[in-house]
Amino acid sequence: MALEIIRSVADLRAQVKAWRSDGLSVGLVPTMGALHTGHLTLVKAAQQTCDRVITTIFVNPKQFGPNEDFDSYPRTEESDAAQLRSVNADVLFAPNAAEMYGRDGGQTQVSVAGIGQTLEGEHRPGFFDGVATVVTKLLLQALPDQAFFGEKDYQQLSVIKKFVTDLNVPVTIVGVPTVREDDGLALSSRNAYLTAEERAIAPLLNQVLCDVLARFQAGEDVEKLCQAAAARLQAGGFGKVDYVTIRQADDLTQNPTLEAPCRVLAAAYLGKARLIDNVG
Ligand code: AMP
Repeated sequence: MALEIIRSVADLRAQVKAWRSDGLSVGLVPTMGALHTGHLTLVKAAQQTCDRVITTIFVNPKQFGPNEDFDSYPRTEESDAAQLRSVNADVLFAPNAAEMYGRDGGQTQVSVAGIGQTLEGEHRPGFFDGVATVVTKLLLQALPDQAFFGEKDYQQLSVIKKFVTDLNVPVTIVGVPTVREDDGLALSSRNAYLTAEERAIAPLLNQVLCDVLARFQAGEDVEKLCQAAAARLQAGGFGKVDYVTIRQADDLTQNPTLEAPCRVLAAAYLGKARLIDNVG
């Protein structure tokens, strides 16, 4: 089947209805485009368990802050479509902002307290409201059986699981492990912002996180470890470090212990790019 590109919610629903009447299951992979192997890994994961897979591309204005990179965010739909064809994806759903939010821009938002207010929620006010709102809409537009998200954005995955549970959205959220370059750098559309010099520095983020995790497991003090890690990033060429932290993996609250799963998360600037990563 050739890749079908759909622009309207009505057409998307008609397609899903036709699949449903054939008894087929449906997977959803939401993205902002500028696709890379990480995104394609989500599509392949969806294809493993779903008969048909919808990949969405929507650069969501509501999740960008006023000083963030909404205007300059890479928009590469033609090459994205070619990549989706290369993995035999079924549908690309790429609505414009008017189709997504209507003429008044949409007056309703989904907001997740607690897990949505720490870390990225603190450093990027409004970010998770934008993500939760658009993902809710995409889930209601497509009504998939399963939706797939990367652990690369671990807190985002956790926030999505939370509102899906809280709002009884009838979908299974599946987390997919982070896809990395050979040197450990997590694939990200924003890596395109890195100069050659910055690209050479970037893998330090993952190295530092792995090091923090190993030392935490060896019994070192959390506070000291995280402070030293931030200093190491800056000494290595990173700019402002928003956070390096060890959290409980299930709800991202503080005071991790060696007895329960934990996650080490960080966000730091490298030139124009703000890189995030996490290990568990
Ligand atoms: P984005 O287009 O950056 O908003 O990402 C769309 C989806 O792809 C999100 O669920 C991300 O977590 C996921 N994703 C992005 N980069 C990676 C990666 N390197 N490995 C796995 N998933 C990823």
